[in-house]
Amino acid sequence: MTERKAQLAANLAKVEERIAAACKAAGREREEVTLIVVTKTYPASDVRILSELGVRHVAENRDQDAAPKAAECSDLPLSWHFVGQLQTNKVRSVVGYAHVVQSVDRSKLVTALSKEAVRAEREVGCLIQVALDAEESGRGERGGVGVAGIEELADLVADSPGLRLDGLMTVAPLTGPFAGREQAAFERLMDLSTALRSAHPAANMVSAGMSSDLEQAVAAGATHVRVGTAVLGVRPRLG
Ligand SMILES: *Cc1c(COP(=O)(O)O)cnc(C)c1O
Repeated sequence: MTERKAQLAANLAKVEERIAAACKAAGREREEVTLIVVTKTYPASDVRILSELGVRHVAENRDQDAAPKAAECSDLPLSWHFVGQLQTNKVRSVVGYAHVVQSVDRSKLVTALSKEAVRAEREVGCLIQVALDAEESGRGERGGVGVAGIEELADLVADSPGLRLDGLMTVAPLTGPFAGREQAAFERLMDLSTALRSAHPAANMVSAGMSSDLEQAVAAGATHVRVGTAVLGVRPRLG
């Protein structure tokens, strides 16, 4: 085993232990939570090692980095999640490799995703990114739609050819009433998910929690956690 592989294996084992412990504490089955490893800023060689170590879901936040990486790793049995703010001019590229776009936050983006998914003859899963730091009818500074905008966007995704409405995603807010209250923020997301599922029962994905707050996300009921730093190490640059 190379040094890097041993390091990633050890980190993965620690994260796995944390998820298992959080599930146990919450009275949840381990199978209810899926680990997505956020590989942004790290090379395709790391993605390949993660795949060898059994990782099945990876996430990226910049198309410029993700597109060549996904191409290099196209032989691997991986699901690719896009989790960054997405400009419409990047949608064609992203639809070429992403199985799920977790950062759907405006109707113009939905229209573009649908058009490109149909063109590529692909089905793209969509999560509505909820900004819990924004005004109800506002938008988040780092992407996301305010709570009041979820329903309209969800209905639009559900009615768009080539797209599948999978659920909701959030990032714990740094400002506003939920600042420093990760678990409360994630519980709010769960309530919003319950409301969403009354109209869209299959949209049961709840993506929340990162390296520093995955326990709170699992406690609140998240189905997917997105972990970067705790698996790959502190990123060499902002991303
Ligand atoms: C980078 C990123 C993560 C992972 O963050 P870590 O703190 O490195 O675990 C999760 N979600 C999104 C949207 C990200 O951009």
